[in-house]
Amino acid sequence: MHPFSLERPRDLTAAFASGAQAGRNDAPAEFIAGGTDMVQLLQEQVRRPKRLVSLAGLLDNRIQMGPQGLRLGAAATMAEVAEHPAVIEQYPVISEALLNSASPQVRNQATMGGNLMQRTRCPYFRDVGYSACNKRIPGSGCAAIGGENRWHAVLGTSENCIAVHPSDLAVALVALDAAVEVRGAGGQRTVPLLEFHRLPDSTPHIETVLGPGELISAITVPANAAARRSHYLKVRDRASFEFAVVSAAVALDMDGARIRQARVALGGVGTKPWRVPRVEAALAGSTLDPDSLRSAAAVAAEGAQGRGHNDFKIELMQRAIVRAVEIAGARA
Ligand SMILES: Cc1cc2nc3c(=O)[nH]c(=O)nc-3n(C[C@H](O)[C@H](O)[C@H](O)COP(=O)(O)OP(=O)(O)OC[C@H]3O[C@@H](n4cnc5c(N)ncnc54)[C@H](O)[C@@H]3O)c2cc1C
Ligand code: SF4
Repeated sequence: MHPFSLERPRDLTAAFASGAQAGRNDAPAEFIAGGTDMVQLLQEQVRRPKRLVSLAGLLDNRIQMGPQGLRLGAAATMAEVAEHPAVIEQYPVISEALLNSASPQVRNQATMGGNLMQRTRCPYFRDVGYSACNKRIPGSGCAAIGGENRWHAVLGTSENCIAVHPSDLAVALVALDAAVEVRGAGGQRTVPLLEFHRLPDSTPHIETVLGPGELISAITVPANAAARRSHYLKVRDRASFEFAVVSAAVALDMDGARIRQARVALGGVGTKPWRVPRVEAALAGSTLDPDSLRSAAAVAAEGAQGRGHNDFKIELMQRAIVRAVEIAGARA
């Protein structure tokens, strides 16, 4: 492991002034929360910050439910949120996305802020033995495009990077129009989660809209009629401790047997958590009959581009949407 110093700022003001920049390999200092992703990347020498700035004890860890919706402090753990009775009842898609993530040990340690900021599982990014990775070394190329790309994205890709965003939680949250509260030395701002992660374009090493010193202080999820009847469906290579090959987060507002409004987002297929508004529009007014669902889900394939090994995801994501809508629709 590369040598680094560990700093424990006494308050958030000191953390903002630390010079840490979240999620950037070229930053001299980086934040660390639960450490479940960061420590792996330090061990593999993928990240070599000179200074680590601990967020322990500095951020809100409360889970609050009110008429406006849900507020999750950035320091709340995955386990605390997944097991919160109000989250299970009002926002099952969030609880299910978390319970289908990682392992109980990781969920006990990992935080909301760290989850949204975790780095891609692209094997070429995580192995410094590969020299071509634009996300790790800007301008070095992309080993995945002509290499093994079964796990990679089919939506939102560029010629510079096709890595999938790995967070299950983020997929559930974008389906529900969540936003992140961002704090820094300049104050606080709110960013819709859909706009928080950036497409790779020509700068895949810049993954979010966070500026220097800024961090996530909380996540807010508005109250929504569809949230209670929601489901997270995750397709993966083994039943636990595994990232999504494809996933679908669905929330439905039903009018009898018809869908009044649907929210649909996909994981495992996009370079960022991927909302599919055209599928939602196609589902609105539809019943749950298989042919209607199948033709609505087919819209998700528009603009999708496989790179060989991952071509199967284009069909699989449509099937995942159909199944997730069926399960959500069957909920009381
Ligand atoms: C074996 C294993 C399996 C896993 N499987 C899954 C899975 O199936 N699905 C899934 O979604 N995830 C999975 N994960 C990833 C896991 O969810 C993340 O490692 C975890 O959520 C990161 O949270 P953390 O608090 O430990 O973050 P850390 O490791 O401390 O930090 C991660 C990143 O977030 C930044 N950061 C932390 N907090 C903030 C903040 N408040 N504001 C801004 N930046 C911040 C850090 O600077 C760092 O860049 C898995 C992890 C492991 C180790
Ligand atoms: S897909 Fe992105 S992260 Fe993976 S090798 Fe290519 S540039 Fe690196």
